[in-house]
Amino acid sequence: MRGRAGSAARGPAAGRRPTGASRRRFLRSLGLGAPAVLLFGCAGGARSSGYPFTLGVASGDPTPDGFVLWTRLLPPAPLDDAPVEVRWEVARDEHFSDIVRRGTVEARADEAHSVHVEPRGLAPDRWYWYRFVAGGEASPVGRTRTAPAPGTLPAKLRFAFAACQQYEHGYYAAHRDIAERGPDLVAFLGDYIYEASWGRDRVRSHGAPTATTLAEYRARYALYKSDEDLQAAHAAAPWIVTWDDHEVVDDYAADRSRRASGAAFLARRAAAYRAFWEHMPLPRAAKPEGADARLFRRVAFGDLATFHVLDDRQYRTYQPCSLDGGSRVVTLAECPALEDPRATLLGWHQERWLEEGLASSRTRWNVLAQQTRMARRSFRPSEEGYWNDGWDGYFAARRRLLDFIGMRRPGGPLVVGGDIHAFLVADLRPDFDRPETPPVATEFVGSSITSQGHTRPLDPADPHILYEDGDNRGYAEATLTPREAVVDLRSVANIRDRASAVAMLRRYVVAAERPGARLVSS
Ligand code: FE
Ligand code: CA
Repeated sequence: MRGRAGSAARGPAAGRRPTGASRRRFLRSLGLGAPAVLLFGCAGGARSSGYPFTLGVASGDPTPDGFVLWTRLLPPAPLDDAPVEVRWEVARDEHFSDIVRRGTVEARADEAHSVHVEPRGLAPDRWYWYRFVAGGEASPVGRTRTAPAPGTLPAKLRFAFAACQQYEHGYYAAHRDIAERGPDLVAFLGDYIYEASWGRDRVRSHGAPTATTLAEYRARYALYKSDEDLQAAHAAAPWIVTWDDHEVVDDYAADRSRRASGAAFLARRAAAYRAFWEHMPLPRAAKPEGADARLFRRVAFGDLATFHVLDDRQYRTYQPCSLDGGSRVVTLAECPALEDPRATLLGWHQERWLEEGLASSRTRWNVLAQQTRMARRSFRPSEEGYWNDGWDGYFAARRRLLDFIGMRRPGGPLVVGGDIHAFLVADLRPDFDRPETPPVATEFVGSSITSQGHTRPLDPADPHILYEDGDNRGYAEATLTPREAVVDLRSVANIRDRASAVAMLRRYVVAAERPGARLVSS
């Protein structure tokens, strides 16, 4: 890619931590874990409340002239309600000898002392380094980049996509691998936190009951973000984030969950959305208003790729034939509403926005960065039917979208998703019962970072599903060039080992002009 800031940017330089964190890690290796953090306040001298950058730094939503920079002040001794001044710096080099933007911003208690900074006027298609200073302490250094300008065609874009990182189910070796490989972008596709504990053989604990209040959601993000491997992945590249259900509660749909609906549920959704924004590298404009948050948006990477980032939770019609406000597997015979043309997963407004974006896109690739499996998945004979929480609960909406894509033929339609805790590769057709017709899009799901899943037999009715593996955790890395996409499924050898190896499981290739995945290495 033009202007890539040198291979030196990879690896250890990305996400380099300040002496503070190295010391903390050293002390932890001596078994001094948490108390060691307190030493920092003392080391800082005077009356410091302690090292405030315990959740690391992050960046996101790159544009040709800027990006969003994020941190949250969370020192060991709680901050009071007074705003805290935070300095920020953006440099062209990791040593900050060439600082190109700097400023100050207030971290406010009502925003959990998070900051969202949006420097503008930077050069397109290059790497930058950033850091914050507050309370006499400097943050870790993050690495981020601007997007190439529209009208330019970069030679390539390498991005990781990942989802579902239940903290109790394993360590974040996959994030360590992402940080080490230093992609241009990371797309995180939902279930960044889990509101509740579940699963077997947990390696660590939430240490708290199910989150339902703003304070509890904030604490849950703080716990997840205390993980150094997750911090390293954030510090290595800009992220594009969307959410799925567990950022609020399992299987919620619009204003309804299993436990509550209407105003009672919306109060919880407002708290959850607020905490999500406070902890993500999202622009200030994305700050929720009550229970409403505009998360769907586009991020372009020159003329090479457009990311259509989707929200399939907030605007959907309810899961058809749900018995308890949640999901289930149902057959078409018992639930004809699976095919209801009035049902929508994205909401009518977002559907139209997506169609307009696909119709007007002139990029070689169009990535639908969304939450759940789009390919039809028949569960037979074990659980006869279709799972009504994903696109399989919204047959007609999926058909509308795939028909539209087949008709308008935007460049390289690539659907990436999460949610199912399995690797999945599929050729998408408007009519899955006509496997002889050419696919109109290609789908990949990058399993889960940690969340438990298991492999179930594929049904012969679904020949469009080329691969499914629920036994391996990991993520996927896609390299887009104007001609083709190379997609590597990368799996974690041992989720119970923080230092686990992560290696390529399978490699697929997709031609930009011809949808459909081809296995080239396994
Ligand atoms: Fe999940
Ligand atoms: Ca989910």
